[in-house]
Amino acid sequence: MEEIRIITIDGPASSGKTTVARMLAQKLNIPLLESGTLYRLVTYFLVNAEKPFNTYLEDKQALLQFLRKIFKETKIEITPLGTFIYWNGKLIKEELRNKEVENTVSQISAIKEVREFLTEFMRGLAEKSKLIAEGRDMGSVVFPYSDVKIFLTANEKIRAERRFKEKAEKEKIDKEFLYKEVWDNIKFRDRLDSQRKIAPLTIPEGAYIIDTSYLTPEEVMNEILKIIKNRER
Ligand code: C5P
Repeated sequence: MEEIRIITIDGPASSGKTTVARMLAQKLNIPLLESGTLYRLVTYFLVNAEKPFNTYLEDKQALLQFLRKIFKETKIEITPLGTFIYWNGKLIKEELRNKEVENTVSQISAIKEVREFLTEFMRGLAEKSKLIAEGRDMGSVVFPYSDVKIFLTANEKIRAERRFKEKAEKEKIDKEFLYKEVWDNIKFRDRLDSQRKIAPLTIPEGAYIIDTSYLTPEEVMNEILKIIKNRER
């Protein structure tokens, strides 16, 4: 029987990746690498840096130093419950999902040095542990040799509604305004993530495609479990 070490789950924003990947990771008790969290972490530190972040983009050496500093000063925990970042002993979570990060992350993640740095970091994790890796380029670039590759999709409107519901519960602002903001952000990120030169969002070779538009997270997870079982035979 073939041992499954790495399962990759890729797809666009709000395709259901996070929910399904978390359920699956807990079910199989495998650590979940949420790669978007790492891109958000870098973005958060860059937009809050002392110098305007453009200075780092113009000076690649300074950028590399800055990336190393972030990874030295933070603790990154990859568990079956997800990827958690601690800074000065405090969990940082909401900060990584704020508007500023949300609107800048796709620009930062298009930078070659940032991608190379994070790719190396993530491959290092896989040497030490089994992983479920969730993101945009997990099966295509970071772990092309992964044992099971999944690509989740969902139609645009459903994805915007999912993200809206998630945010509407937390943010008490005008619902119409929020919906438009969510819709614009999803389209904006999809465009940048799919059109960038390095590691664009794409369906990895050999991936199983699941359209999650009209499926519950449990149904999607069961589909993936079936695929894994077949692969193990
Ligand atoms: O998955 P999440 O929404 O947290 O990802 C945030 C952003 O990080 C994406 O919009 C994309 O720009 C970037 N990302 C990436 N490659 C990955 C995962 C995320 O470029 N593997």
